[in-house]
Amino acid sequence: MSRRLLPDVVPARARALAFAALTLVSWSPVGAAAPNGPCPALPGLADLACVARDEGWFYADDAASAARLADDARIAADTFVRHFERTAPPGAVVAAGTGRHLDDDARTAMRDAGARWVLPWLDASERATLRRDAIERQLRARLPDAEDARIRSLREAALAQAANTSDAGGDGADTDRSALRHEIGHMLLIDAFWPDRAVSGAPAHYGGPGPDWLDETAGVLMESEAMTAVRRRLLYDDGAMSQLRPLDEFFAMPHPLMAGLVAARAEADGPPHAGIRVVSGDAGRRMADQAPWFYVQARDVADFLIARAGTPTVFAGIARFVAGGGDIEDWLALHGPDHGLPPTVAALDAAWRAWHAASAPH
Ligand SMILES: [Zn+2]
Repeated sequence: MSRRLLPDVVPARARALAFAALTLVSWSPVGAAAPNGPCPALPGLADLACVARDEGWFYADDAASAARLADDARIAADTFVRHFERTAPPGAVVAAGTGRHLDDDARTAMRDAGARWVLPWLDASERATLRRDAIERQLRARLPDAEDARIRSLREAALAQAANTSDAGGDGADTDRSALRHEIGHMLLIDAFWPDRAVSGAPAHYGGPGPDWLDETAGVLMESEAMTAVRRRLLYDDGAMSQLRPLDEFFAMPHPLMAGLVAARAEADGPPHAGIRVVSGDAGRRMADQAPWFYVQARDVADFLIARAGTPTVFAGIARFVAGGGDIEDWLALHGPDHGLPPTVAALDAAWRAWHAASAPH
């Protein structure tokens, strides 16, 4: 049984952002695309409610929860078309709970029905429970002599504080739903642009075959307005710019979470559970320190590209080009000026910094 813990000493905001990112992608090999029919029966998970939509199949403990998953998939699909000009491939989200494994038979059933991707998920109440348990464990470790009532009251205070200071105006449900859309964004990008990707059980690359910055861009573009506002606010904190990388590095770097995961694997006490990786302790803390800025920079660069190109579809051409084997440097040289962008990454970096400085809230 794996554990999912919040790192215990990172700032609340960073923790919230990292938490939204801790659920890792997992996908199934490509099957032939098929028109959506009724929900495929999942061996071993027959008690789950399921909703069938154009975007795919959505499984959860009850119908209302399944419908919420489907609603978020719809938002992600619409957003994906707006930015990438490709139809969102149908998939499946399965919120089966932490105690149950999404096995190969269930994945096969969904693939055979036409799901191009499969995302194991935790629903909002499970995430809330995990957060609560993690905080309680940390408190007990720090205050071994405290009575239960004292621990409980500190736990509730910590939860309330995190809700007030961290994310999305204190609405944890918004954060959970935004995180789901983010993860679906990864799935859609991979399947829409790399449909023949080679798939193994454990991806060597964090998000997929594309560069990590583009993969993460697809994620942040799907997020809620509240989460987007959190990302943008961080950009103008003191010292924020020193956390961001020059664009030549940003376009080439691996996702910081990937490096963290390699370390986390060594520390983990079990295999990933149904594709949901649980991270704790030092590894979680390292990831929480580094990962938020990757998302924040992806958001900022995306805002810049949209503003400079004057269209939200600027990513479509980039994704097509990169999926064809090119890189951003060559895309800029060949197509940048057509989109109002400089022809080199170095010049893009300068333009981005100038735009960023001019965009600071007054
Ligand atoms: Zn992501």
